Parts: sequence; structure tokens; C-alpha cells
Amino acid sequence: MGVLNQLIEWLLGLFSSNQKPEDNTIIPEEVAVVSEEIQSIPSIEIVQEPSNEKIEEIEEVKPMNTDFLSGIHKMFLDSGQYIKEENAKFQIYLHHTAGNASGRNTISNWNTDSRGRIATCVTVSNKGASNSPDGEIVQAFSSKHWAYHLGLKQEHFDRFDLPYVNIDKFSIGIELCAWGPLTLKDGKFYNYVNRQVPEDEVCQLLKQFKGYTYYHKYSDAQIESVKNLLLYWSETYNIPLEYNEDIWDLTERAYKLEPGVYTHNSVRKDKTDVFPQPSLIEMLKSLS
Ligand SMILES: [Zn+2]
Repeated sequence: MGVLNQLIEWLLGLFSSNQKPEDNTIIPEEVAVVSEEIQSIPSIEIVQEPSNEKIEEIEEVKPMNTDFLSGIHKMFLDSGQYIKEENAKFQIYLHHTAGNASGRNTISNWNTDSRGRIATCVTVSNKGASNSPDGEIVQAFSSKHWAYHLGLKQEHFDRFDLPYVNIDKFSIGIELCAWGPLTLKDGKFYNYVNRQVPEDEVCQLLKQFKGYTYYHKYSDAQIESVKNLLLYWSETYNIPLEYNEDIWDLTERAYKLEPGVYTHNSVRKDKTDVFPQPSLIEMLKSLS
């Protein structure tokens, strides 16, 4: 019996030593280390391959020009003129100022007017400004921050039976300096403050847009600057650049915060900005 008891004790000892807590902790750690190694090796390969392909694809289809960034003229608004709060960005809205050609003047007016925190991230100067080159991008605040630029209330969302969302927060606005609709009188073109606009700066539409045939043209340099901004922000915020015909009129997609490029017309029936200038449409289509 003595030998049998010793054998039983030895066996029990073996069993209980396997149950020691330190053994239990070592095994999972070792397993964990091994499984991390196993997981990390293929995950690096999987992540790298498609992203390289994606970069090559982007470089082939839409070469992004970042040289323009150094040419941006910064005129940051006073802190009370916009909201320094960082939000995700899903949409980009194109506006025109209904004002003169200088993006710099536009921003200094925003800073001194009494309209509160109404502004866009950037303005783009048109031809003929004395203090700003044609196509110059002037920055009012970081694209991460926001200001009111759409003028939306619950009643605008009611049309589509949707709840109110503060789209201003989640979008980036671009203001193109331009007068907007023009009126033809005795062979001359006039803006809404009765100032004459040179004929070579007039765009005649084949089909009226919101009751007007003539609009103050967005210059080629402005359109090029908008293109650079769209490509840059598309990369930065992962905003798709597919062209959609519905952006020239109210579209439910805009109110639902569907990512993409829109115009002020997309959310406001009473606005004419931006108007469908053929060269602007052509540029937008080229990004798809
Ligand atoms: Zn607008």
C-alpha cells in the first residue's frame, strides 16, 4: 500500500502542479504573443497591397496638385466670426458671393459686418480684383472648423420629411467671387446693383437657370482653383467626387448628409449659386 499511496500522491502532485496559476498565465501569454505575430504578418501585407494600388490608381486618373497649397492667401477671421470646433466633413458646397472680384475683400467684409458667424472656409477671387490675382484662394479658417453658410432651418428638411441636421458643421463651403444673374439692357449687361459687367465676363446659358439667361462668369483660374480644392479635400476627408446632375436643384441626398460635392441650389430653392456654367460642369465631370 505504501508504494501505491506514494504513486497516488505523485500523480496528484503532477495534476495539481498543472493547475498552478502561474502555468495558466504563461500559456495564454505565449499563445497571445504567437497569435499576435501570426495576425500581424498577414495584416501588414493585406493593408499595404490594396492601398498601393489605390494610390497608383488615383495618380493615374486624377493627379492631385498640392503646389497650389503654398499659394493660398491666409486671412483668418477673428475667433468670434466662426466656430473653432472640429467635425467630420462629408460634403463640399459651391457658392458664389454675389459681390466683387476680390476674395480678400469678401473675407475682410465678413470680419467687420454684423451678420455673425456666416462665412465659408475659402473664397476664390475672380478676374479684375486690384488686390488679389485671378483664381487666388483666400482662406478664412481651417477646413476642420465651420461657420454658417447654408441658412437651413427645420422647414427646409420638412420637404423631404427629414429631421433637421446642422449641415454647416459637417460640410466645407467654397465661395467663388461673382455677381450672379445679370440683366441685358440696351446691349449691356448689368448686375443686381446696376453695375455694368464687361461682355467677355458674361456667360450666356442655352437654357435659363432660375429665370436668368445671363450670369457673371466664373473665370478659368477660379475653376482650376476649385478643382484643386476638391481633389485635395476629397483625399483629406474621403469625400467622393462623382458628378451628379441633381446638385443644381433641391436634392434629398444633400439633406441626408450623403457625402459628395453640392451647390447651394442643392438645399435652397431661392438661391442661384453656383449657376451651371458649362466649363464648371466639365471640370466637375472630369473628377469622376
Ligand atoms: Zn450661397
